[in-house]
Amino acid sequence: MATKSLKKAATAVLQKPAAPKKAAPKKPVYNPLAPERIAAILDGLRKAYPNAVCALHHNSAWELVVATALSAQCTDVRVNMVTPELFRTFPTPKALAEAPLPAIEEIIRTTGFFRAKAKNIQGAARVVVEKFGNKVPETLEELITLPGVARKTANVVLGSWFGIAVGVVVDTHVLRISKRLELTKNTDAVKVERDLIKILPQSEWINYSHRIIFHGRQVCIARKPKCADCTLEKLCNAPDKTWSSH
Ligand code: SF4
Repeated sequence: MATKSLKKAATAVLQKPAAPKKAAPKKPVYNPLAPERIAAILDGLRKAYPNAVCALHHNSAWELVVATALSAQCTDVRVNMVTPELFRTFPTPKALAEAPLPAIEEIIRTTGFFRAKAKNIQGAARVVVEKFGNKVPETLEELITLPGVARKTANVVLGSWFGIAVGVVVDTHVLRISKRLELTKNTDAVKVERDLIKILPQSEWINYSHRIIFHGRQVCIARKPKCADCTLEKLCNAPDKTWSSH
């Protein structure tokens, strides 16, 4: 008995103490809004679309107000087909303010909702003439007093013409792709803009929209995005991706 217990004691002394178990390395928690991820998205967009600008043809703030108003529920290509004649026939806000409404309607007919649009652009022309001395105002608060000009149009004009970033233009492309890129969970344009303003640096507000709109037209199209050709593919986890490397 004594020999047995001596052996046990000797074995216990010779046995190495068990090494403490190593904790498994923690997987970093995926955060779609991580600043590094957002910076990588902006970088990818910058490289892919370095010269993206507003696709609506215009030569003045006033022309951009009108073109943007006409682009509601209409393609930019169609608007660009209509505006040369409109601006040739009524070259100033004053000329448009005094024009017979049916003449405006006739020119813009193919942009859809032409009666409401004609009324709005003429109303906007009158306000620009009477309230702002023929000049398009440079603040959001003043711009949205023009008939038919809501926050989106005001953002387009301030950003693209005056270079003033007071918000992010959220059109159908910005809405769809910001969601696909998990930069927002919202579907309402005003809420999406609020989300984007929080996470994007202000210096990128104007370019982000321009580039995303290009991306939406060329690659990240609504029905069947061309994910295999997409510069942002590695960063994207959209559920409706058509191809994935990860
Ligand atoms: S990977 Fe596909 S869904 Fe994602 S941004 Fe690119 S084109 Fe759009």
